[in-house]
Amino acid sequence: MGFNNMLNIERSYYVATANRTTDHPRLTDVIDADLVVVGAGCTGLSAALHAAQRGLKVVVLEGGKVGWGASGRNGGQMSPGLRKGALGLVKQYGEERGRLIYKTTFAARQLVLDIIEKHSIQCDLKLTGHVSGIVKKSDIAHYEAEADCLRRVMGMDHLSILSSSETRKLVNTHYEAGTFSTVAGHMHPLNYTLGLAKAAVDAGVTIFENSAAIALERKPRIRVSTASGAVVARHAILAGDALLRGLEPEVNNRIMPVGNYIIATNPLPNAHELIPSDAAISDSRFVVNYYRLSADGRLLFGGGEKYTPRPPRDIAAFVRPYVEQTFPQLRGCKIDYAWGGLVSITTSRLPHIGRRGDVLFAHGYSGLGVLLSTLGGKILAESLVKNTPEFETFAALRPQAFPGRTALRSPLYVLAMLWYAMRDRL
Ligand SMILES: Cc1cc2nc3c(=O)[nH]c(=O)nc-3n(C[C@H](O)[C@H](O)[C@H](O)COP(=O)(O)OP(=O)(O)OC[C@H]3O[C@@H](n4cnc5c(N)ncnc54)[C@H](O)[C@@H]3O)c2cc1C
Repeated sequence: MGFNNMLNIERSYYVATANRTTDHPRLTDVIDADLVVVGAGCTGLSAALHAAQRGLKVVVLEGGKVGWGASGRNGGQMSPGLRKGALGLVKQYGEERGRLIYKTTFAARQLVLDIIEKHSIQCDLKLTGHVSGIVKKSDIAHYEAEADCLRRVMGMDHLSILSSSETRKLVNTHYEAGTFSTVAGHMHPLNYTLGLAKAAVDAGVTIFENSAAIALERKPRIRVSTASGAVVARHAILAGDALLRGLEPEVNNRIMPVGNYIIATNPLPNAHELIPSDAAISDSRFVVNYYRLSADGRLLFGGGEKYTPRPPRDIAAFVRPYVEQTFPQLRGCKIDYAWGGLVSITTSRLPHIGRRGDVLFAHGYSGLGVLLSTLGGKILAESLVKNTPEFETFAALRPQAFPGRTALRSPLYVLAMLWYAMRDRL
């Protein structure tokens, strides 16, 4: 967890504006449960909440604090779907199966909205849509084909294609064209995660913080040990995403952590001139820029990835050029917060959801996990005893392992990523 600590979460806008929560104790005993969950991000907390609602005794082990993984530090952009678009799904799996995968995934949106409403989670929810700014004319045809596929195959008409000038009315910068999705939005992800944790505790879940799982034994029962205690349980759910290392061999080579960085400016008096639509925005670059306004009128901007293990020494200076390139009027603007996180990606950009016996896992949402993680957790909780059809749909997508064993995959992968990023710049 050392790398995660270097990523400045304490200095994030989200921690500075977090709703008040209670701290959870460290595990110092050996305790029994029906289900032990490793990781208190949205996957783990959603799994815990849904399992507890089914009457199970659930214990969550979190190595750091609730929500201090990707769930509490991301861009907060709520876009239904998978990193691989509808077109990609149909190309790979055909129309019928592509439609099943897409519809199963899309359920994540309503699930999250229902949880926010049912548990009265205050998380600055805005259902203002999502704009994707298209940076190269040659990419427009792809987006038109995606919108057509959504309409024709998926029966969904939420995505429209915009001209350059129509896009500028929604976000005040130059794009060659854009898309607008009416089913997206944004929220304060840490406050959502903290709300999910509270809902889980209210349903009877016990959470331990500063209690990293360091060993997983399967026989005679599942036993997950920390430095100062253990949980013995019938089932385990691994929800550590990019930070989970070494507990389960099936997982190790299938997700790759990539450092990604965000800043928040000071509150801007004319923030709505930058994004008149108040939508969530991203662009079509391989190393994507993504941004939106916060509830108090800051620009929250994510840009730049680093494939080498160390984060940039000065995260604000690392992200600033991407901000100023997008909005030249912000040249020299004040940056109040800068932090980073680890995006976990898979070779296919599809999540890795599965099980080995009574140990289940879901991770690798490849940068589109704000909605999916809550769904992933729910699907695991409902599949402890018997796989549900949703579980089977996702488990069948099992991504290929990264080439090379752990020692090799990073350098190979770094080379591939750098190549794509460079192609963008050209
Ligand atoms: C910078 C950034 C920006 C992003 N922006 C967006 C966005 O705008 N929209 C979007 O859809 N997606 C976005 N994502 C992706 C999204 O945040 C993630 O896919 C999602 O939050 C993953 O949730 P999770 O619960 O699976 O993992 P996490 O939230 O990372 O939770 C895992 C938890 O497990 C804990 N843990 C790990 N190992 C152990 C262990 N051995 N013992 C105990 N605890 C352990 C960690 O401390 C952590 O708290 C972004 C990600 C990052 C990093």
